[in-house]
Amino acid sequence: MYKITASLLFIFAFFINSFAQQPDKLNASQIHHAVQKLNFLGSVLYVAAHPDDENTRLISYMSNHVKARTAYLSLTRGDGGQNLIGPEIRELLGVIRTQELLAARRTDGGEQRFTRANDFGYSKHPDETLAIWNKEQVLSDVVLAIRQFKPDIIINRFNHRNPGSTHGHHTSSAMLSLEAFDLANNKNIYPEQVKKYGAWQPKREFFNTSWWFYGSQEKFDAADKSNLLSFDVGVYYPSKGLSNNEVAALASSKHLCQGFGRLTQRGSQTEYVELLKGDLPKDKSNIFDGIDTSWNRVKNGNFIYSVLNKVETEFNFQNPAAHLSELMSARELIQTLDNEHWKTIKTKEIDAIIEACAGLYLEASATAPTSSPGEQIEINLEVLNRSASNIELTSYLISTNKTANLKAQKLNTNEKFNFNETVSISEETKPTTPYWLEQKGSLGMYTVEDKSLIGKPETPRALTVDFNLKINGKPLTITKNVVYRYSKPDKGELYRPFEIIPEVSAKVSKKVIIFENDQQKEIPVIVRAGRDNVEGVIKMDYPKDWNVYPKQQKIEIANKGQEQTVIFTVIPPKNQSEGILSPIVTIGDKDYNKELIEIDYEHIPFQTVLLPSESKIVRLDIKKKGENIAYIEGAGDVVPESLEQIGYNVITLKPEDITTEKLSNFDAVVVGIRAYNTVEALKFKQDILFDFVANGGNMIVQYNTSHRVKVKNIAPYSLTLSRDRVTDEFAEVKLLEPKHELMNYPNKITTKDFNGWTQERGLYFPNKWAKEFTPMLAMSDKGESTKKGSLLVAKHGKGHYIYTGLSFFREFPAGVSGAYRLFANMLSIGKGDISNTLDIKN
Ligand SMILES: [Zn+2]
Repeated sequence: MYKITASLLFIFAFFINSFAQQPDKLNASQIHHAVQKLNFLGSVLYVAAHPDDENTRLISYMSNHVKARTAYLSLTRGDGGQNLIGPEIRELLGVIRTQELLAARRTDGGEQRFTRANDFGYSKHPDETLAIWNKEQVLSDVVLAIRQFKPDIIINRFNHRNPGSTHGHHTSSAMLSLEAFDLANNKNIYPEQVKKYGAWQPKREFFNTSWWFYGSQEKFDAADKSNLLSFDVGVYYPSKGLSNNEVAALASSKHLCQGFGRLTQRGSQTEYVELLKGDLPKDKSNIFDGIDTSWNRVKNGNFIYSVLNKVETEFNFQNPAAHLSELMSARELIQTLDNEHWKTIKTKEIDAIIEACAGLYLEASATAPTSSPGEQIEINLEVLNRSASNIELTSYLISTNKTANLKAQKLNTNEKFNFNETVSISEETKPTTPYWLEQKGSLGMYTVEDKSLIGKPETPRALTVDFNLKINGKPLTITKNVVYRYSKPDKGELYRPFEIIPEVSAKVSKKVIIFENDQQKEIPVIVRAGRDNVEGVIKMDYPKDWNVYPKQQKIEIANKGQEQTVIFTVIPPKNQSEGILSPIVTIGDKDYNKELIEIDYEHIPFQTVLLPSESKIVRLDIKKKGENIAYIEGAGDVVPESLEQIGYNVITLKPEDITTEKLSNFDAVVVGIRAYNTVEALKFKQDILFDFVANGGNMIVQYNTSHRVKVKNIAPYSLTLSRDRVTDEFAEVKLLEPKHELMNYPNKITTKDFNGWTQERGLYFPNKWAKEFTPMLAMSDKGESTKKGSLLVAKHGKGHYIYTGLSFFREFPAGVSGAYRLFANMLSIGKGDISNTLDIKN
């Protein structure tokens, strides 16, 4: 009696639009730079809150000019931002921004670290931030970063002294950094960390200030700068053919999802840092003054210095391989150091230098981009010595194996050496996914079960190969992640990380499914095979008062990467209700309930993310009037799809389509978010739209920012936008006009309709309006004045104009029923006979 359609869709989602991402191959100048950095034993940790907060000019200057080991500690991964380049939001945006930070660091030469703090969205004050984050956990992660990285110098991006003047995450990052400076050397604080990494006292802490923090350039010029250090970050690097500020612009331009693509800059430019803790350097041009940053810093380092100083000063740019025997001796000396911290860092650095000097090409490339647990995969190994040095491949160890494969292969100069290896991926291998998303977190924190991963930018790769070599008879192991290398005729050679995926994954085609009445809906579920010959069954998990048919369906997919779509009939209950619908695929004795998401952009490596496969199902108690809605696009929201879900017919109009004649076909016009900030052409269309309202239409305008408004009149009556916002999504909402038609027809709106909202109530509310407007709601954030501008309605001629800063663009995709009910009333106002509905004002 129920229609069951099972169709096989032959979609191979691989191989689409991946660009470059080749491994680094250092040239002679880059090797020399690496040797200079090898001979500098000092570290700088830069601290801020979000991806894109970091000052890449200073990070690049410290890394490339000072030659210090430099890292950026971003407290969050930026989940709460908006996405300019694609549909990913929240945790998936955090994955993109994590990779954008890593790409920025590959450009400016820094390293990247994080804490477990989650960017939960805009926060007005550090008190709120630190209440939503688990302050103790984030502080312990900052202390951990200091103990692991052991910086001499800490530089904060933000001022800890002006809470409330910027994003609460920003101020919190500086406050926590300052607190951690005093705690990191105390052995009684987080003693389990001390056991593993030791305690550490950074020498100095600074605030990366600028004229902006003083109010104006004039005030800054006049200010006392005795506590400030300054650097010319416009220095030119002949070895790169680039100025430091050009490198910095290239690095910050990686933050593309935040719209940071920008022009490069050159020429002298001054950066300032203000001393917060520690002593002021006597030589103010040297931030490390009084700190030994030479090899003398470590016991017996002078022997290493005597070898490596010669390599640096007499570097052979024509033949870097000439330094191999000196480098191998230095490496041996480094292995005898007592100081484990510097031993580990400098070994890693010198190994990369040796590999580059020898012109070694070592690569392990799989014949497919993915594999699943229990499968076998073929790996191509390429080993090549492009120097005249005496190098031998003694053996290689694939991480899935217990013992190394012996090879004893002498690597003759430029004699290519390729061989294949079949690797079994064990059943226990964990699929590739960002480690911080494996467990369900809270609003403010990621949950990370494996403590050894805390702070790491990404999940270590499951499949690696150790190449065990002998260079001039001395052993050296170089480890490579297995990659997937391929080519496209129109792109050239391309790389992507090799990934482990589950043998099957499934997703419901929509993330939120709205039932506007008790009619059943047929819901497609897409099942994807991670290997060949997948056979099993799929069933659905759903809330008690709902029903789903059939109870179970068969899954049969022949090829890896192929998808099968199965249809389930979902029957909603009679009354308002919501819950989670999630598919479970059973293969043998294993259940799979994850969705596989692929993130593919040119500027970052390909990413796969596994998340619980869940869709929200909502049975709405909703009535509506009017059928046809015109939608005018702004900066992008999902209002059209959302209104279609509740049965409206929505047509998107381009500015040139906005004519009196066209508009006469519609009951209401909805203007997309920030349309008056982004669509210049609308300034010629406002009069036509207001006439439409005067003739009986309804017009709903969603939020615009108060600056850069491109139209003269946003509304038919005067209306002043402000920066008023209510960021607490739980903030109490008062109905100012409970008897107004908007609050009663066709749906009776109560304060219950404001339950379950997400991220915020709204933003950029007007703070002044003409008497024609009636404010409908009052709300406020803790400790702030009451805001009444979130929803304003004005009768204009025969129709209604409504301006709202309420965040419908966030609530609709989250399936918040109250938001749908209220919006239905906004569209329906003036459309029905309310004469028999007592006591309603219009
Ligand atoms: Zn920020």
